[in-house]
Amino acid sequence: MTTKHSNIWRPYTQHQTMHDMVKIDSGRGAYLYTEAGDEILDLVSSWWVNIHGHSHPAIAGAIADQAAKLEHVIFAGFSHEPAEQLADGLLEKMGSPFEYVFYSDNGSTAVEVALKMALQYAINVGNSERNGVIAFEGGFHGDTWAAMSAGRTSGFFDTYLDFLAPEIMHLEYPSTWMNDPEQTEKEEASLAKLEQVLERHGDQIAALLIEPLVQGAGGMRFCRPEWLEEVVRRVRERGIKVIFDEVMTGFSRTGKMFAYEHLDLRPDIVCLSKGISGGFLPLSATVATEEIFDSFLGETFGQALSHGHSYAGNPIACAAACASLKLFDQEQTVQKVVEQSAVHRECLPTLPRTKNHRVLGAIAACELEQESGYASLQSIGMRRTFLKHGLLLRPLGDTLYLLPPACLDVETLRTAYGTLADAIHAL
Ligand SMILES: *Cc1c(COP(=O)(O)O)cnc(C)c1O
Repeated sequence: MTTKHSNIWRPYTQHQTMHDMVKIDSGRGAYLYTEAGDEILDLVSSWWVNIHGHSHPAIAGAIADQAAKLEHVIFAGFSHEPAEQLADGLLEKMGSPFEYVFYSDNGSTAVEVALKMALQYAINVGNSERNGVIAFEGGFHGDTWAAMSAGRTSGFFDTYLDFLAPEIMHLEYPSTWMNDPEQTEKEEASLAKLEQVLERHGDQIAALLIEPLVQGAGGMRFCRPEWLEEVVRRVRERGIKVIFDEVMTGFSRTGKMFAYEHLDLRPDIVCLSKGISGGFLPLSATVATEEIFDSFLGETFGQALSHGHSYAGNPIACAAACASLKLFDQEQTVQKVVEQSAVHRECLPTLPRTKNHRVLGAIAACELEQESGYASLQSIGMRRTFLKHGLLLRPLGDTLYLLPPACLDVETLRTAYGTLADAIHAL
């Protein structure tokens, strides 16, 4: 089941204390299969990317067809059907006021592009004194430089703090859960802090960047839509643009296609990745309103967006994403997530030794009552125990969460909760 030695340097891994790798041979639906034939239930959608199931034949087929026809072409000055179709499909699903799709190839770069768009928008419209960004404590926006700066307080980047951009401020985030008695207090404190910052620096800030409703890697920390709406309203009054990082929340995770659908208002820029290709290939999109796009029009290149990756708009990735979008309609994916959510709400609070339960769409999270830490051996030990029970789970410190692919049927999910309860007893 495991592979001993490998020359691969792994992501987010301390090699000295890590255990043997689990070598996966194949995947089908919500299951992964090891070379030895063991079955593992993927309750984290393989780092939050998988939606319709592993190796879904519709997406696998679309990829094979596209690869045989056109694998890639330079994306400046040239276009192709999969990229055009995907932009149309995304904009149709996203609705007003989103008009323009910029492709890159991972969530971090989708965020970098969004920040460049917002900062350059300010320059392009003659407000170059707006060079600051507001983000939130505990937020995570990816591993590239500006994304790390925006996620400086997530706890993942402490080693690099001296190298990160100070122009990104961090405000308190009112992390909350079911029956949290301090919810209103936390929200009011954070709004008061926001007001202070706006009074002092309101006209020096270009953008507010937030993961809408759920901070993912920061520990599946939830906020209420009413609070977020109030934040957006207040920053908008000061002429600040709003960026929603929906890299994790997008594509049905919150029980709606996009998390912003839980709100009565819309951001100016949205970052999408992870689930965009159904979890098959790296792809991301930064989607903007016409107002943002139009400010980049002019006679000089200096006013244009100076950004573009070698694999921008890769046809195979776009074809996978188009096939995935079709599946959302054919398989009623969002409805499936709503059904999963009901099981989460029923079963999550029954898990032993847990507290601070919270559920939104496919996401269920809580804290384990014992103290630990992301880097601790205990956290790694927990993963091993869950794996022995056939479950792929990856707690974030003390935070235990489930984020299954949308294809996981509710009966299997219910059974998995029983197995999980046994595993927690065995910790
Ligand atoms: C994962 C994640 C990112 C980074 O995406 P990568 O594809 O890993 O670069 C950015 N923002 C959020 C909210 C994420 O969850």
